[in-house]
Amino acid sequence: MRLFDLTGRVAIVTGGNGGIGLGMARGLCEAGAHAVLVGRNREKGDQAASGLDADGLKASFIEADVTDEAACRRAVASVVAAQGGVDILINNAGIAIRKQPEDYTLAEWHKVLDTNLTSAFIMSQAVHTSMKARGGGKIISIGSVLALFGAPFSVAYSSSKGGLVQFTKALATAWAPDNIQVNAILPGWIDTELTVAARAQVEGLEAKIMDRVPAKRWGKVQDFAGAAIFLSGAASDFVTGTSLLVDGGFAAQG
Ligand code: NDP
Repeated sequence: MRLFDLTGRVAIVTGGNGGIGLGMARGLCEAGAHAVLVGRNREKGDQAASGLDADGLKASFIEADVTDEAACRRAVASVVAAQGGVDILINNAGIAIRKQPEDYTLAEWHKVLDTNLTSAFIMSQAVHTSMKARGGGKIISIGSVLALFGAPFSVAYSSSKGGLVQFTKALATAWAPDNIQVNAILPGWIDTELTVAARAQVEGLEAKIMDRVPAKRWGKVQDFAGAAIFLSGAASDFVTGTSLLVDGGFAAQG
């Protein structure tokens, strides 16, 4: 169990106040970590942290917009001050704006890239000093199967997620000497608020997805706890620069 034991570790999970982020945060807490949830919505964040607390787990919430560099740096500094450092960072906050490429405004493009990709750079840079001082760390970024495939409505989203896969490889090579492992998780179709919107917007999406997913079901947020624990613990100490698909076989089908 030592391989999957996160007792005493401090984890920051952006977008940890809901959806997949909260599913992973719960997993890390159950493995012994203290999870700091970062998000914009304080009410949702306090509720999520209290829910974990009520189950005897260690969690707290910090309000920050991951597109705001100063807010990200303040959030990390406050975690270091309160908890003594950071061992695990999960770059999970993400948004999708679904439109045909010709209808996208430049502001919308920047919003998706800033939230999904640039935030991972800012947060990773912000935790580097603390991880290095603690002798190592784990950085996990949440991409998507749309890092590998195109879809007509996903020009900015796919670009941001494809960028995260390459970001993961580059950072892994740069920080391997600091004993910081950098990996990504690529979710398939998961039942969260993000896909509620997609299902409402894209006609026939539900049927198309069920037809394409070999597991014949939507992913659940709980499906991400195991991958997050593996990539956060000693079990993955020689795993770096990789992207792990958690998609019910969607990408394997080609
Ligand atoms: P949700 O919409 O349920 O959750 C997204 C989270 O990101 C929210 O908690 C939200 O918090 C946070 N967030 C968004 N923008 C910001 C911001 N600017 N600053 C801080 N926090 C922010 O989505 P999912 O749980 O489904 O998605 C989580 C990740 O998984 C995303 O990166 C997404 O792209 C990826 N993913 C999801 C898939 C799916 O099918 N659901 C498939 C593939 C990838 P708040 O409300 O406080 O802003």
